[in-house]
Amino acid sequence: MNGEIMYQLRDVLEQAQSKGIGVGHFNVSDWLLLKAVSASAQELKVPVIVGASEGEREFMGVGQIAALVKSLREEHDFPIFLNADHTHSLNSAIAAAKAGFDSIVFDLSALPFEENIRRTKQALETLKSINPAILVEGEIGDIGTGSEIHESAPDRSKSLTTPEEAKEYVERTGVDILAPAVGNMHGMLQAMVQGDVRKRLDLARIREIKDATECLLTLHGGSGTDNGDLQKAITAGINIIHINTELRVAWRHGLEDALAQNPHEVVPYKLLPAAEESVKQVVLERLRLFNQAQRQPRTTPAQADGEKIAQEYRV
Ligand SMILES: [Zn+2]
Repeated sequence: MNGEIMYQLRDVLEQAQSKGIGVGHFNVSDWLLLKAVSASAQELKVPVIVGASEGEREFMGVGQIAALVKSLREEHDFPIFLNADHTHSLNSAIAAAKAGFDSIVFDLSALPFEENIRRTKQALETLKSINPAILVEGEIGDIGTGSEIHESAPDRSKSLTTPEEAKEYVERTGVDILAPAVGNMHGMLQAMVQGDVRKRLDLARIREIKDATECLLTLHGGSGTDNGDLQKAITAGINIIHINTELRVAWRHGLEDALAQNPHEVVPYKLLPAAEESVKQVVLERLRLFNQAQRQPRTTPAQADGEKIAQEYRV
């Protein structure tokens, strides 16, 4: 521990909110992606959240990814956090909490509202008993599944989160963070990969949900979203923005280019840096956007720890 600063995710999020900026959340499924995310945040001196869904955790190992992020945090002494993204079972959430994850997205959004509330509240109590500082995020509304390239986008306008249900959900579950459906969706359409089409957000709804709940808010499925909308979403009350598919696309393109340019190379550490660099360019661009303070930040009481982080990491 050598006198390192112990960063708490809640402090970082509240501090970022008071400055009118967002915290980037990037999913990783291997060390290459994690290196790219970590290096980008250190280069810009901004805090960052690394996410691993149940599938990504199964591939990397729950304990292994926790050890890697802990190692980066201690060696470089910077605010990098680990989130257990889209966790559908209590056992899987408990495993992540015990491994040292900073937050858990407990996603029962596919269940009926009452059952979602009851089981999320139970999970929250169990997870806080393992680690009182852990942040639990709950989800309502439909934002689709699968951070990949989709053929078409179904009409989800009827399953957007309303301010009334958001308020009831937050009050009855006690979640630390809420993930609403506000025009966002997981994955990207091919036209979004090419840049022809961008996702648009329901900014008025974000503001209404924020005013009704005063809760920390996460925007899932941020890949392919209009840049201006993302900035306005932060001003309206979004605190964390998830980017996954854009990184996966960059990873594949970087890898394909490296293989094409070096048809006979078999040394991984000579091929993989190209993919890492490709991912890094996306993370850097997104982090620069999220960390550009807007004119009218929401105000919350600043915390002493947060102030220190603010000075060092521009939050
Ligand atoms: Zn998500």
